[in-house]
Amino acid sequence: MSADIYREQILELARNPVNKGTLEPNDASYEDTNPLCGDRVRIDLRITDGVLSDVAFTGRGCAISQASASMLTEMVKGQTVEAAAAITNDEMLEEIGVEISPARIKCALLGLHVLRVALDNYQRSGATSTDVELSQGE
Ligand code: ZN
Repeated sequence: MSADIYREQILELARNPVNKGTLEPNDASYEDTNPLCGDRVRIDLRITDGVLSDVAFTGRGCAISQASASMLTEMVKGQTVEAAAAITNDEMLEEIGVEISPARIKCALLGLHVLRVALDNYQRSGATSTDVELSQGE
């Protein structure tokens, strides 16, 4: 099995994460913690014409939480808000590629949870409410 390769990739990404940092100003931002493990992840988004034009994260915690958040930023950069919001837990776990023990599932999914809330807040903020109302006519 290639699990060791994935594991090495996780550790490498945790040491040298991509898209680490903050975006100021940003169009959406959210931060949350996984109290079970002490992980913290914040994700900042820039959204241009409904597309995630820039994505960055900061945080601290275990290798899985930080590596998965970093992977997630790569997954969603350039995607539409709708596509990014539709990523499932299973898709995130598949992307990580390592078998995650039940105790570590919350670590692996913390970034995705933070992203969903950030996107949800953005969609509720009214940035697209006019379009939604118009398209819902009849
Ligand atoms: Zn953790």
